[in-house]
Amino acid sequence: MFYIYNHDDLSAWHQAKKERWALVPTMGNLHAGHLSLVRYAQQLADKVMVSIFVNPTQFGANEDFADYPRTLAADEALLREVGADALFLPDEKMIYPFGTSACCGVTAPAAFANILCGAHRPGHFDGVLNVVTRLFHLIRPEVAVFGEKDYQQQWLIKYCAADLHQQLDIHTAPTVRAADGLALSSRNAYLNPEARRLASQLYAHLQRQKEALRNGIYDVSSSKNSLEYQGFKLDYLELRRSSNLRLIEVDELEEALQAGDARLFIAARLGHTRLIDNLELTK
Ligand code: AMP
Repeated sequence: MFYIYNHDDLSAWHQAKKERWALVPTMGNLHAGHLSLVRYAQQLADKVMVSIFVNPTQFGANEDFADYPRTLAADEALLREVGADALFLPDEKMIYPFGTSACCGVTAPAAFANILCGAHRPGHFDGVLNVVTRLFHLIRPEVAVFGEKDYQQQWLIKYCAADLHQQLDIHTAPTVRAADGLALSSRNAYLNPEARRLASQLYAHLQRQKEALRNGIYDVSSSKNSLEYQGFKLDYLELRRSSNLRLIEVDELEEALQAGDARLFIAARLGHTRLIDNLELTK
């Protein structure tokens, strides 16, 4: 595995580069979800680079930037096992040469950034788009792969890349789940055993809602109430279009389902841990 820590390493890599490369950006603390992205990327390109960078600009002031799990040795072992070809480990100065408080920004359009997670994490998607744009500029990969688990994120990244004329193919890989359905996430490690058991209810509710909606019953508030009763604090549970993230009204449900353009989005907090998930609805 080729290591890139700085601009000299990056130049050496660019000079040697002949093949088609895919980039899988991550914040580390790798789990089977991340590794599935690497395997997915291996189908799309000759070689795969993974980046690990805990990006400060996408964390809010009261969020877990300082505590975010950093497990580099374990991550490296997993990446060797899965056969990643390069690992990009920039420091903050390499990504933000003038510092995060004096950096140029990338602003996510409000119509898409102030809904779903963006409504509860102001500035979050600006930070995501800023770092991803910088990674694309530095690496210039032919392909990049993101996870469907963070659906709004991958949607905005594709939108931003198209809007800023970035020349690469961006793909979305399916969500990897634990046996009980909980979407794998680095933040699951924050859950105590009781909260971890409860967390699986999120996916169970999405599935129940999916069945109800397929049968024409549009009543997301019953799931909301029941999850709140179980101890979740819900940020949102919403039915939106996969294609443009617009809310689906009751009278559009059938058409959206038929078109394969309906998706349930959920974000809920258990204690201090925020969990998100989404499920495509099909007829
Ligand atoms: P993160 O390290 O959390 O920023 O995630 C890096 C990439 O892995 C993002 O594209 C995520 O959407 C993706 N990812 C995280 N969890 C999963 C999962 N359970 N299944 C598939 N992809 C995931």
